[in-house]
Amino acid sequence: MSNFQQGAEYSTSLLSIDLNAVVENYKILQTKTKKKVSAVVKADGYGLGAIPVCESLIKAGCSVFFTAHLDEAIAIREKLPEIEIGVLNGLGANEADIYKYYNLLPTLNDLGQISAWQEFSKNNAVNNKKLKASIHFDTGMARLGLPPNEADILKLQPSRLNDFEFKYLISHMACADQPLHSLNRQQLESFELLVKQYPNANAMLAASSAVFLGKDWHFDMVRCGVALYGGAPNDDINPMQQVIKLQSKILQIREIDQMASVGYGASYIAGRKTKVATIAVGYADGYPRTVSDDTSAYYNGKKIPLLGRVSMDLITLDITDFSNLNIGSMIDLIGENNDINKLAKSAGTISYEILTSLGRRYKRKYIGG
Ligand SMILES: *Cc1c(COP(=O)(O)O)cnc(C)c1O
Repeated sequence: MSNFQQGAEYSTSLLSIDLNAVVENYKILQTKTKKKVSAVVKADGYGLGAIPVCESLIKAGCSVFFTAHLDEAIAIREKLPEIEIGVLNGLGANEADIYKYYNLLPTLNDLGQISAWQEFSKNNAVNNKKLKASIHFDTGMARLGLPPNEADILKLQPSRLNDFEFKYLISHMACADQPLHSLNRQQLESFELLVKQYPNANAMLAASSAVFLGKDWHFDMVRCGVALYGGAPNDDINPMQQVIKLQSKILQIREIDQMASVGYGASYIAGRKTKVATIAVGYADGYPRTVSDDTSAYYNGKKIPLLGRVSMDLITLDITDFSNLNIGSMIDLIGENNDINKLAKSAGTISYEILTSLGRRYKRKYIGG
């Protein structure tokens, strides 16, 4: 595996991705559920690299993976012939033969997709073995999956399922990161009825957060993304290990006088003689422009305040109290002192968005796996 991101040879920033931590998180989810854990690797493994993430999880015993898009699944299949790969976004028109060719598992999200897969499956059994599919039922998100009226029709017309193997029974939780939300139990109860109707399918409801709602949500399998990558299941607990570390070198240092301003909009006015360091990370690299004033960078665990606005390619830091920092000194932006959950909170977003926005201009270094 190549260690560095192509096209970032001269980058002054280093994104370290700890695949051992991904595996550790996988084991934490296994221990918590005592069930089979499938891995969601959509959006290029939440921005961390779907192939290295899959490879490390395969070694840890994971055999079922999910993407959102068909193209994402094909890209993984071309590198990894053995694993099972499901596509969550549904079976598009004229895609059935692509699914068969690449040995991918469609998720059927409405009755039309079920009919199309059934029709295709009649004539396309492989070595007398039926083709397979997941079926997603909407139990409360109004997003993807069979709406309740279509679920009722399917219940009355079970022959719609005759010609393929209904492998995974899927639904998705809307509020699992809020353990006390009433929709959690409502969705659970709707799903339990479906499980009774389709006892031969492998039932799978929980994503990362719902794993921590309790055993009732675990069914036959779980389907986890963000927790593998260090995202907290909810605001109160985070047993997950941090996977990424983002560091960047100081490009330039200058001293400014009291009352001088820093950056766009002159939004920061120095209250004293100030030493300003500039580093080459900005919102074009996924460092959020919306971080609040309490966001910090760190050096040897010591806080360095951000000054002024985050610009497209640069951030400015107040290093007045650091006599030991020079051009080239490596500053920590995301890591043990400022993890993805904390940074997300300070930017008014969620860890998912921090991960999936990570830029392509960083040098990337994979550890372990
Ligand atoms: C993204 C997604 C997941 C994974 O969710 P996490 O919260 O990242 O664990 C699981 N199931 C579906 C349907 C999804 O869209």
